[in-house]
Amino acid sequence: MKEFDIIGHFFQPRSYQRHDVAIGIGDDCAVTSVPEGQQLATTTDTLVEGVHFPKETSARAIAHKAVAVNLSDLAAMGAEPAWVSLSLSLPHVDKDWLGEFSSTLQELTEYYSIQLIGGDTVKGPLSITITAQGFLPEGQALRRSKAKPGDWVYVTGTLGDAALGLDLAFGQAEAPMHHKNYLLNRLNMPTPRVLAGTQLRRIANACIDVSDGLISDLKHILYASQVGATIHVEKLPLSEAMQESANEEKALQYALTGGDDYELLFTISEEQKGKLDVALANCNVSATCIGQLNGTPDKLELKYNQAPFQIDSEGFQHFA
Ligand code: ADP
Ligand code: MG
Repeated sequence: MKEFDIIGHFFQPRSYQRHDVAIGIGDDCAVTSVPEGQQLATTTDTLVEGVHFPKETSARAIAHKAVAVNLSDLAAMGAEPAWVSLSLSLPHVDKDWLGEFSSTLQELTEYYSIQLIGGDTVKGPLSITITAQGFLPEGQALRRSKAKPGDWVYVTGTLGDAALGLDLAFGQAEAPMHHKNYLLNRLNMPTPRVLAGTQLRRIANACIDVSDGLISDLKHILYASQVGATIHVEKLPLSEAMQESANEEKALQYALTGGDDYELLFTISEEQKGKLDVALANCNVSATCIGQLNGTPDKLELKYNQAPFQIDSEGFQHFA
């Protein structure tokens, strides 16, 4: 199969179609229209076999994750996704793999009403690069740098599940049988909080998605906004699967340092806090208050039931 046969068979006919795409796959460029009064948000992420996913990962999981991590970045800025392009490096042409990959991609474009507008297909080590673009009302982007002292710190969903899922996949953790699927799905098929991101636009001061771990990503907000935070670790939202699989110390370690959750971490002023429940009511996701910001630049303080709680550089924390 030649490059254009692959494109013509697996990608060109397999996408949700949008009215704002004048020219899609098949020409030298895609040509699209941005609605008046909106700005375009653009993000790119690459997944490389052996680096971002293990060799045995299914085509379905790879396609899902490649789209999800990009949509999560759009969500973190409050953008509404519109278009994706795909650069695919393949070691060889495996029709079964391509079939599973492209049908997952098609399902996702339909679910999120986004269109695959182009890409590139080359021979090389397995690697998937997706660029996602979305719309933002002018000047309404959610930034890492706009957090204010006194803001409450919130996170959507639950934390640490993907990291526990990874340990589970490598036989380095155990979980009750009936929780295994959930945990592996949290790792392989993350849910980008797209709707929550757009709902937070007018009420949150700052936002980031949790891709590297709560502490690591919160520090980006603290640095960019020059504020400090106190986080009450006993408030961290843990799934039932987490609570029934790991002891408390281990669960908190996953929740504080585990990556790949793709939840939204955001800060919101006291005045705006009341609007949160209504804003998230139709988003199918919960949000939990886990702490508060203060005016000490770049300082993160962890507490467990008001007592100091420490975490060392390897990510192991201690009950002080
Ligand atoms: P060119 O040589 O002009 O870059 P290509 O032959 O690489 O064009 O691609 C032909 C068309 O197919 C272009 O519209 C391109 O965006 C699209 N395309 C190529 N690979 C992919 C892919 N993996 N997914 C979606 N569209 C693709
Ligand atoms: Mg090309």
